[in-house]
Amino acid sequence: EDYPLPQELQPTTRDPNRKAFSVQVDRPEGIQEARLKLPVVGEEQKIMEAIFNNSSIVIWGATGSGKTTQLPQFLFEAGFGHPDSPNPGMIAVTQPRRVAAVSMSKRVGDELGQYSDRVSYQIRFDTNVSSKTAIKFMTDGILLREIANDFSLSKYSVIIIDEAHERSVNTDILIGMASRIVDLRESMCKEDPSVKPLKLVIMSATLRISDFTQNIHLFRHGIPPLIQAEGRQYPVTVHFARRTHRDYVEEAFRKVSRGHRKLPAGAMLVFLTGQNEIKQLSKRLKQVFKPTQRGEDFQGKLRLSAADAPLETEDLELGDPDTGPQGEDDDSDIDIVGLDDEHEDDEDFDLGEESMSSSTRVHVLPLYSQLPTKEQLKVFEPPPEGSRLIVLATNVAETSLTIPGIKYVFDCGRSKEKQYDLTTGVQTFQIGWISKASASQRAGRAGRTGPGHCYRLYSSAIYEADFPDYTEPEILRTPIEGVVLQMKSMGLHNVTNFPFPTPPSRQGLTKAEKLLKNLGALKSDGQVTELGNKLSSYPLSPRYGKMLQIGHQHGCMPYVIAVVSALAVGDLFVQESQSDTMVSTLGNGKDGIYTNSDRLEDTAREKRRKDFYRAQRLLSKHDDTSDALRYLSAICAYAYASASDEESFCEKMFLRAKGLKEASQLRSQLADIVRTNNLGLLGSYESRLPEPTEKQIKALKQIVTAGFIDNVAIRADMSPEPPEMQRKPRGAVDVPYYTLFRSRESRATEVDEKAVYIHPSSILAHLTPKEMPQYIIYSHLQQSTPSHVTGSNVPKIRMFPLVAPSGLQLLALAHGTPLIEYGKPIGKVEALTSVPQRRQCFIVPLL
Ligand code: ADP
Ligand code: MG
Repeated sequence: EDYPLPQELQPTTRDPNRKAFSVQVDRPEGIQEARLKLPVVGEEQKIMEAIFNNSSIVIWGATGSGKTTQLPQFLFEAGFGHPDSPNPGMIAVTQPRRVAAVSMSKRVGDELGQYSDRVSYQIRFDTNVSSKTAIKFMTDGILLREIANDFSLSKYSVIIIDEAHERSVNTDILIGMASRIVDLRESMCKEDPSVKPLKLVIMSATLRISDFTQNIHLFRHGIPPLIQAEGRQYPVTVHFARRTHRDYVEEAFRKVSRGHRKLPAGAMLVFLTGQNEIKQLSKRLKQVFKPTQRGEDFQGKLRLSAADAPLETEDLELGDPDTGPQGEDDDSDIDIVGLDDEHEDDEDFDLGEESMSSSTRVHVLPLYSQLPTKEQLKVFEPPPEGSRLIVLATNVAETSLTIPGIKYVFDCGRSKEKQYDLTTGVQTFQIGWISKASASQRAGRAGRTGPGHCYRLYSSAIYEADFPDYTEPEILRTPIEGVVLQMKSMGLHNVTNFPFPTPPSRQGLTKAEKLLKNLGALKSDGQVTELGNKLSSYPLSPRYGKMLQIGHQHGCMPYVIAVVSALAVGDLFVQESQSDTMVSTLGNGKDGIYTNSDRLEDTAREKRRKDFYRAQRLLSKHDDTSDALRYLSAICAYAYASASDEESFCEKMFLRAKGLKEASQLRSQLADIVRTNNLGLLGSYESRLPEPTEKQIKALKQIVTAGFIDNVAIRADMSPEPPEMQRKPRGAVDVPYYTLFRSRESRATEVDEKAVYIHPSSILAHLTPKEMPQYIIYSHLQQSTPSHVTGSNVPKIRMFPLVAPSGLQLLALAHGTPLIEYGKPIGKVEALTSVPQRRQCFIVPLL
């Protein structure tokens, strides 16, 4: 953290609109008192001076110092967002996560006393914005889409970009665009006095801000001033573990249990990497200690949610977050901890103060992004009298949310990150070490209300040797075709020259452009086509846009809208393995002793397994090789469930209620857009659709194929070259496939050596090897996360199938495109007959 510290605040532009204008706020008792203690409030004058004197500023303050809650209020009190003030435009505050947008708007509303109705939020499909709104919290994706419709952001007078240190793709692009919009508004002001200037405030919790402040492309009017709000942080004692255990969930359980027995009163915050780990730990803590009623009540709610979405790319659809069921579920192979270890760190827990009684109840609450908002907000409520609050959280609690009263932090040192290989398109959810910056953020969470302690579940040696200083910006590890298309359709043709805080890699850009050309969104010279402009109007990946644009055949449009919304939300099914864990929470037989309750549990599990398969069969009635059609059935059937029994319908069908609700909201949004884009072609949209006809089903498969034509896989044991994989596969998930990226030239690289396999969550996984189709169109590839528990780290690349088109269907789409066999062009596809007889080769429109 060696950024050259505060620069003198040099006035660059005197704001001509600055007049004395203030709004008097009567804050509720207690709130005002608490505010005055926040470091940011101590800097109010300096901050407001800087905002009035500059078009852009950067604010740095430790997490919890008051940036998110206070900055919007300073601006509000100075008249921003007030219709009669010189700056009537709204105050926008962007967040990388929906949870934060909703909960922070509630908090600021509470703090603003009589003006609480001036604070609103807007996230995808949910908003309480009204004509009174002056402060609008939103996800960064929402603001990006607003820019697409109103490039000068004329509704706003200030844009606050919060959590800039997280470096999400959306945040990075927003910063680049906002810096230009500020300039644009300035020149508009000069021509038209009724236009007001726009201010940009970038807020960061770490000092890694040189990407913003020292980027000469980003701010053409000079480097924005940096204001620091000194953290008035209480000291946090950091305890490193003596050893780093591989099974950190088990280790967290041991340490938290010991901590609860030995530590004085105070809430605990435990950082884990995903939902399954959180469930596991929650279950064990509740078995060992007495849970509060409220905590238990809550557990019922956990049942319906499926795999964690580790990366919360919100609102601008750039991919399907999905971890799949593999990985953390497996708790069969647990590290045996030696007796020596039992007391290894007792002294860390001896704080010389009286500990809580170990009969104290535990109030265990999970906190992760897929949890319903209502449940997430529970962490802000005081725990029941005499209990200890233990929050089990993912990264969400690292910087966005400040949970009151946390005194002890337990940090596993890992997080789940989405990685994306730009060459192969393989995506992984890798559990890896966090950065040193993140570790210090996590520790800092213990020192908000008083001196605290942070127990790190890793040794200082590992920390020094293996932890990177900062996390890599997301733009370097995610597909960016959506971003590229949106920019181009906004007239930013030269994406390479865009002032990104960190530019995307050349390779990423090339790949994105190739796909866009292939979809017909870009001309060969890189200009946006008419189709491209239409695709960019959908809040979705261009692949889905393409499907909607060609969805008119055979009256398919209503079905295409339905299937696209289901696929885009993704992850609608509760996996069988997850339903298993749910059942096992019913009994709690002691290790190794088979009790009556275990027997009951087994029966329940068996019944549940049967129900699960029945539901799957029902949902795949159209076709047992198309996951896309299973998604279609799910969302269509959901539309028939009455509002009162949506939840029980989902439970019965093993569907994820939160996901389906979102998918049906997306469905009606898409219907509106389709109607606007293709006047007259879609009449009234009925969500309760009749069964699709044979013809329509066939057309639907073709349409899905068109959107994902580059994601085609062919059975390896049917490909011309007899592969080493000729051994007999045991089940469908064992059948090897090759994708386009396996060509002779690139075979040397490690990934290409490997075939890809069916993901076990696919309905194809129920087939026998003989029944497996020859061609599969998949949505994405994923490399399994090596399990931290079993230590099995033979990574297999798995695909998420959508449809299994016939060779003919592929051919029809590929008409006129080069015919490639193992990387070598061997002609063009003109008619069926031009495909060499009996030779199975790829028809590759892309390469
Ligand atoms: P920053 O954005 O700098 O991390 P915040 O503005 O989020 O800080 O938080 C400032 C303080 O407000 C926190 O230290 C916390 O004590 C308090 N706070 C924030 N949100 C809530 C909430 N929902 N309930 C109670 N207190 C809160
Ligand atoms: Mg904040």
